[in-house]
Amino acid sequence: PFEVLIVGGGPAGAAAAIYTARKGIRTGVAAERFGGQVLDTMDIENFISVSRTEGPKLASAMEAHVKDYDVEIMNLQKAAKLIPARTEGGYHEVVLENGASLKGRTLILSTGARWRQMGVPGEEEYRNKGVAYCPHCDGPLYKGKRVAVIGGGNSGVEAAIDLAGIVAHVTLIEFDSQLRADAVLQRKLASLPNVKIITSALTTKVDGDGDRVTGLSYKDRNSGIEHDVALEGIFVQIGLVPNTEWLKDAVALSPRGEIEIDARSETSVPGVFAAGDCTTVPYKQIVIAMGAGSTAGLSAFDYLIRLPAS
Ligand code: FAD
Repeated sequence: PFEVLIVGGGPAGAAAAIYTARKGIRTGVAAERFGGQVLDTMDIENFISVSRTEGPKLASAMEAHVKDYDVEIMNLQKAAKLIPARTEGGYHEVVLENGASLKGRTLILSTGARWRQMGVPGEEEYRNKGVAYCPHCDGPLYKGKRVAVIGGGNSGVEAAIDLAGIVAHVTLIEFDSQLRADAVLQRKLASLPNVKIITSALTTKVDGDGDRVTGLSYKDRNSGIEHDVALEGIFVQIGLVPNTEWLKDAVALSPRGEIEIDARSETSVPGVFAAGDCTTVPYKQIVIAMGAGSTAGLSAFDYLIRLPAS
């Protein structure tokens, strides 16, 4: 058994592991895919102090840094169920999909999140080649270009407002007959000269020249007519889904399925902490996940040193 068992090996889990291992605590990391979303990222330009790097490069640097310490990395292990300790200071059990189980006196949950995809032809093919999911990350790459934002909820409208200040033109496409974002955001969006809003529109495909995105097609849901829009970038903003399905009955989740945490990364279960994109933390970014993982690591340490000697 581990004193600290970390579930998830993205930036949050890696940071947590380094912090607890440096305290000399027996630490293990179980991850479905060590590296997490960073592995799916091309250019990273907002990892502070590193002007530009690439996802796979950062992921292998994270792994090498964790391996500097005595941390057991269990890669390709998917957690399926959490059974909290029955008594304070007892072991929590994480049951893996393959039936095996791991135990930790404290747990740090850092299973991240995934962007909901449109599921249309071309989306996968042009991912990172014009199809993007994170305006904070990729917005500046489209300076002076034309982009679409798919989704008229808060994140879509925020993205459109953000991008309108960087790119030449933004087309916002919403499936419903009206936007669903807060009124204040909608008013702001309507005031911008370089934004066009299209409602009742179903995006049907991403077009490209084999190399990069050149446009998209959508169907007007009222008339049934298909339209093409020429552009260079598409930001898909139809939801970020936390990887917390396996935690439903174990820890308190927000209505969106995010693990509820306080400023110390504590969840509703004593001795169970959480960090990164799977939690209620307001912004989802690499540096933020690393900071959150460090907080969780230090909180787990604090918790352990307060347990009565056994
Ligand atoms: P993740 O990176 O999602 O890691 C989650 C970990 O948990 C993985 O190891 C995963 O395999 C594992 N896991 C999930 N479910 C289970 C389970 N049931 N059992 C065991 N393990 C599990 N951020 C930036 O700051 N800058 C950027 O330029 C940037 N670009 C991005 C580009 C793309 C295409 C994407 C998708 C994201 C980008 N982000 C960027 C966001 C950034 O990658 C995330 O905010 C960050 O990776 C979150 O870290 P995390 O550790 O919380 O979760």
